[in-house]
Amino acid sequence: MAFEGQEIKINNITYSDSFRQQGMRQKLIQELLNRGIPQGPVLEAIRVIPRHYFLDPVFEHQAYEDIAFRIAADQTISQPYTVAFQTQLLEVKKLQKILEIGTGSGYQCAVLCHLGAQVFSLERQKELHDKAVRFLPLLGYRPKLFFGDGFKGLPSYGPFDSIIVTCGAPYVPPALIEQLANNGRLVIPVGEGKEQVMTLILKDQNGQITQTTFDRFKFVPMLQKRVST
Ligand code: SAH
Repeated sequence: MAFEGQEIKINNITYSDSFRQQGMRQKLIQELLNRGIPQGPVLEAIRVIPRHYFLDPVFEHQAYEDIAFRIAADQTISQPYTVAFQTQLLEVKKLQKILEIGTGSGYQCAVLCHLGAQVFSLERQKELHDKAVRFLPLLGYRPKLFFGDGFKGLPSYGPFDSIIVTCGAPYVPPALIEQLANNGRLVIPVGEGKEQVMTLILKDQNGQITQTTFDRFKFVPMLQKRVST
């Protein structure tokens, strides 16, 4: 899929993907390679998807710096390195069923769709959920988007081949472990402070769990209790 020449209008803002922006993405890819993300489908998805479409136009010129950004509802779009790192850990295969917790801007969701997964994504902020519902199909992506609580997951749609949590979880929600298929992978940043430890949980063919930890990352918190409207 290429977005060149294709204009997208959302909330009365028209987005297009120029050669300049494609060039900036190419530079970002080089930075991600330098930071250890390997060549392959994940980087290819990041190279193709116009990240600036997911940001307010005032930030457009910074869309391809490797930094996180404020989006609506006091939330953030994850840093490209974080998206690349988490997606690498998922080892996405075409047609896999993947659950994402924290749709946010929809960028991570678009990356997963681009890799050919069947994506189910949950968001607890109504404003962000509603925007993703309208916006992602305009890019040609058709994830199943849900407004609800990530601590509960989506019991009636599981089990999932992989689960990715894109907010900082105080602990690993038991419901997500339950909804993970045998041979499944759960990638979740765990920690209550400003930083979380990236954690990969594997469920083997007998349902046994093993856990591996990686570097620290910064996420907005995974919030409990009331779902805001
Ligand atoms: N994947 C997103 C990252 C957004 S930041 C992107 O690519 O832009 C994390 C998101 O998790 C926020 O939108 C926040 O509202 C959401 N979130 C926080 N706690 C949640 C919960 N309990 N259930 C579902 N979503 C949650």
